Amino acid sequence: MPIVKKIKRIIVRVLARLPFSHQIYLLKRHGIKFFVYRGIVRRHERYSLERMNAYQKAKLSKLIRHVYEKVPYYRGEFQKRNLTVNDIQDAEDLAKLPMIDKNFVKDHIELFKADDFKRYHPVEQHTSGSTGRPFKFYVDNNIISFVDALGWRRFNWAGYYYNDPFVIVRQPIGYRSRAVETQKRYFYDPLTKMLEINTHLLNDDHGLSKAFDIIEQHDVSVLITYPSYMFYLSDFARRNNIKMSFKSVISGAEKLYPQHREVMKEVFQANVYDFFGMEERLFYAAQCPKGNMHAFFDSGILEIIKDGRPCRPQEVGEFVVTGLHNYSMPLMRYATGDYGCFLDKQCACGSRMPLIKVVGGGNKDLIVTRSGMRGISPSHAFLENESEKIKAFQIYQDNIDEVVLKIVKGIAYTQDDTVSLEEKYRDLLNNEARVKVVFVDKIEREASGKYRFVLSKVYKDKFKNLA
Ligand SMILES: [Zn+2]
Repeated sequence: MPIVKKIKRIIVRVLARLPFSHQIYLLKRHGIKFFVYRGIVRRHERYSLERMNAYQKAKLSKLIRHVYEKVPYYRGEFQKRNLTVNDIQDAEDLAKLPMIDKNFVKDHIELFKADDFKRYHPVEQHTSGSTGRPFKFYVDNNIISFVDALGWRRFNWAGYYYNDPFVIVRQPIGYRSRAVETQKRYFYDPLTKMLEINTHLLNDDHGLSKAFDIIEQHDVSVLITYPSYMFYLSDFARRNNIKMSFKSVISGAEKLYPQHREVMKEVFQANVYDFFGMEERLFYAAQCPKGNMHAFFDSGILEIIKDGRPCRPQEVGEFVVTGLHNYSMPLMRYATGDYGCFLDKQCACGSRMPLIKVVGGGNKDLIVTRSGMRGISPSHAFLENESEKIKAFQIYQDNIDEVVLKIVKGIAYTQDDTVSLEEKYRDLLNNEARVKVVFVDKIEREASGKYRFVLSKVYKDKFKNLA
């Protein structure tokens, strides 16, 4: 080993013993601005409604001036609609601008880049291209630190603080998975006390049992993972009577179904905290210590839209977001394909940040039938003793007249279960489509590592040109 590397390793080992080694890591990654942002966003949590509105208004007016002067797409739209910067002062005025979505931006990427693009030190980003074509976009260098500061809000709300040792089980998007890269079973970072499990271990019982051994050895207190991986772990633990408790379990990136949450809660004896985020870094929401999902007003403006109009509280519509911070490539009124509603109540945690409920992602949870779309959740398929019967499950559709239930069978699965599942789903679909159970060895994940409970090619094709 070269001497420089050796010295570096020794320094890291010494630093890792300090009670603030995670802060050292954050300082190295972001510089001092991270801690400045963290202080700012913490104060936001206590803002009154008036202050939140004033904050959004100020950020929006600055952004509007910028897009009007510097961003070709918006310059054109303002002209076309005879608008001036003064016409858009608050969230309600945003309705004067058109909605856009990922496909539209993909096709017009140059129009969304600001004239003074370089000034913001933009960083190129990619999202998982669910349509096959990866989506490339840019975020200001500063945003990355700001968003990480927001990210710590959700971690703190979930009971995870700097220097808590944690295990992460997921295929990171936008981050390197060092365990996967090095083909090792796990990777341990002493500075952040992060244990990263190679997700390839979760493919069979032998690997899962190894994963539990590794977690045990590292004495971690927080588990961070995707719901699907979380479910594999908790299901295995339950089947094998493994007792493992965490201070908290943090979920994200996929929809967390209530049934899964219950299993995890029981097996890991911890509360499960969910969050809503976007790779485009436009808008975030997370569950507070009281378990309610708050919209992060300081990330972006959330509109919930149905048939082109804003929804009333409790009424479900599509999330349309306007990021308030990105200047190199601003995206306004960006339809995310996720669905949910505002809740008309106040949270006991003390924060006045708006409460929302996420009910599902656009092309993740909808099945198309001849009479329209149906939101479907795998919870409908749950059988008694479900974890004994079904190891993995996916609702798949590539034909409008047929829905396929892909199942990886468990030991207790019987022919009666097939009959009962087919019946349940035919009912749910109003007898408009045939329902077929197909047994498979495994459910394929998407290229990003995401696992989809509902995958409808029909939906995707039908709504390809949403804009
Ligand atoms: Zn709350």
